[in-house]
Amino acid sequence: MAETPAEPPTRCGYVAILGAPNVGKSTLLNRLVGSKVSIVSPKVQTTRTRVLGIAIEGRTQIVYVDTPGIFGKTRRRLDRAMVAAAWQGAADADLLLLMVDASRRDPGEDTTRILDGLREAGRKAILVINKIDLVRREPLLLLSDRLYATGLFTDVFMVSAETGDGVRDLAVAIAPRLPAGPWLFPEDQLSDMPLRLLAAEITREQLFRQLHQELPYALTVETERWEEFKDGSAKIEQIVFVERESQKPIVLGKAGARIKSVREAAQAELARLLERKVHLFLQVRVRENWAEERDRFRDLGLDYDV
Ligand code: GDP
Ligand code: MG
Repeated sequence: MAETPAEPPTRCGYVAILGAPNVGKSTLLNRLVGSKVSIVSPKVQTTRTRVLGIAIEGRTQIVYVDTPGIFGKTRRRLDRAMVAAAWQGAADADLLLLMVDASRRDPGEDTTRILDGLREAGRKAILVINKIDLVRREPLLLLSDRLYATGLFTDVFMVSAETGDGVRDLAVAIAPRLPAGPWLFPEDQLSDMPLRLLAAEITREQLFRQLHQELPYALTVETERWEEFKDGSAKIEQIVFVERESQKPIVLGKAGARIKSVREAAQAELARLLERKVHLFLQVRVRENWAEERDRFRDLGLDYDV
């Protein structure tokens, strides 16, 4: 009996993207998935929840986990919960990527802490050196050698998440290292983040972009209502929660100019993302002691008791 050549097995696995704040984890995730999934912002610590981005590479489904940055000062309960969530994401993953910023002279405290964590856990990672568009070759090789010498990396990829340079090579290298098995998500699914949450994140990103240094740290956005109309358009009502009455005028701006501009930008982004006309309505409200509220943590998928 002639043997039929077997089809290669399907593969599926979780890949955690670890790295200090601002190294470009969310940018890389969006690039790998080819759609806006996680939130990219020039400010640090904008990623609070674990976001899944799902990509297909050949017969492999790669499920990326975007972790909140693992950072040092864990005084606040919210910070501690974010650090715990990041390490949980790492422990659950089949493969780890550690991202560093090529434009920084040395890896920094946060990266050092992650390296220690890897060592303690006895795990290896793929080193991803990002932002190579910003640096010359020699210092890049120096950084690469120095990190590789830790013995914690299986290999090194140099990429620019911003331009896409080297990103495809990384995806191609990841796929065969994931376990053989059925796909865990439908083929057309890009993220497991519910649309309401995603819509709130889009507005929060605009607030981050437009409020710059003045941004109240513990600001959140929640989607209150979502109505779909026969003509295909959607009406989305959101509430922007701040901690104190005194923060309201900052968010509103002079004669409401700032919230208007945030609303317009978020609305345009949502329309692009949802591929339909969107009417976005924003309200600013005060919610005190946000960062200590147990419910907020649960809503964000974070553990309060760490
Ligand atoms: P995260 O905190 O690690 O998720 O970092 P983000 O993805 O939010 O990126 C932080 C900042 O670095 C943003 O301003 C990005 O536009 C920028 N960035 C990310 N990747 C690159 C890159 O490859 N080159 C350059 N020049 N900037 C980048
Ligand atoms: Mg991020």
